[in-house]
Amino acid sequence: MVTNLVNVRYLTGFSGSSGMLLVATDRALLLSDGRYRDQSADELSAAGVEAAIEIGRPSQQLEALDLATRGLGRLGLEADDVTWSGKERLASSLSCMASGASLVPTRGVVEALRIVKDEGELARIEAAADIADVALAQVKEQLKQGLTELEFAVELDFEMRRRGADGVSFETIVASGPNGARPHATVSDRRIAPGELVVVDFGAEVDGYRSDMTRTVCVDTVGSPELLDMLDAVLIAQRAGVRTLRPGATGGDVDAACRESLTKAGFGDLFVHGTGHGVGLQIHEAPAIAQGGTDILVEGAVVTVEPGAYLPGVGGVRIEDTLVITATGARALTKSTKDTIL
Ligand code: ZN
Ligand code: ZN
Repeated sequence: MVTNLVNVRYLTGFSGSSGMLLVATDRALLLSDGRYRDQSADELSAAGVEAAIEIGRPSQQLEALDLATRGLGRLGLEADDVTWSGKERLASSLSCMASGASLVPTRGVVEALRIVKDEGELARIEAAADIADVALAQVKEQLKQGLTELEFAVELDFEMRRRGADGVSFETIVASGPNGARPHATVSDRRIAPGELVVVDFGAEVDGYRSDMTRTVCVDTVGSPELLDMLDAVLIAQRAGVRTLRPGATGGDVDAACRESLTKAGFGDLFVHGTGHGVGLQIHEAPAIAQGGTDILVEGAVVTVEPGAYLPGVGGVRIEDTLVITATGARALTKSTKDTIL
């Protein structure tokens, strides 16, 4: 029983905000409500999915589910998604439960399938990455005119939408000067001044699939020698991380390459987050690329490599690309220049 809506979308193409999917060995049943009568049929057919669709009020959906689960011995529920009350409701209302069936927790079953992207998925992520690249190139010029973080973010978001993005991957981060020292700052009305670093972390969404890229830019020349050293160090660390990407490497290997490189440069203590993550229908998904991480990279996985260094009160640097793992290494999908100076 798939209740996580991202997993439902992955398996069926259905993108509504309410629904669940029963997957048996020989059939599938999508349950949703009246708002999605047409949309569910259209999206399943567009995705080439042959599943029965039951549309109705919650009680009607439960009845259809009851019928479809008769005779089952075990029903798996997504442990990370289903609520306690949801589980109780199924336990008390499905007739298979009365005849001895059990509810069992499942973890990461669909998420594991989602790691390897097929051609269609990859094409969507590439399109999203291309839109982000073009949008940044377009908007960068405006940075010289003394924009605020918010104004820059809005221009970037607008440009991505104008170029075909269905939305942004996540709330765009434009963090200038001391704000850049906080890895997950979003935007403020702070005016961007010449000489300070600006961390720009953003992505586009195309047909549900996302891209993720960070560039650190500067109006004029970088104001402080220490920031300049940090920039160099993060760039070198990012390259070192990317070089370790290949089938069979672990997330921990990639993280260690970035971390060792930054440590050698004297900035190891300023790298305060994990190195990367999988990207797809969600901005953060498997595999994890983190310190000690054991997730193994496979061909067709799409991941980010994004080391950073953050000097409290002064500024931050992060460089991030989204890449697809190939048979022998990796190919970058985000391609914007890493030149800092505008
Ligand atoms: Zn990012
Ligand atoms: Zn990221």
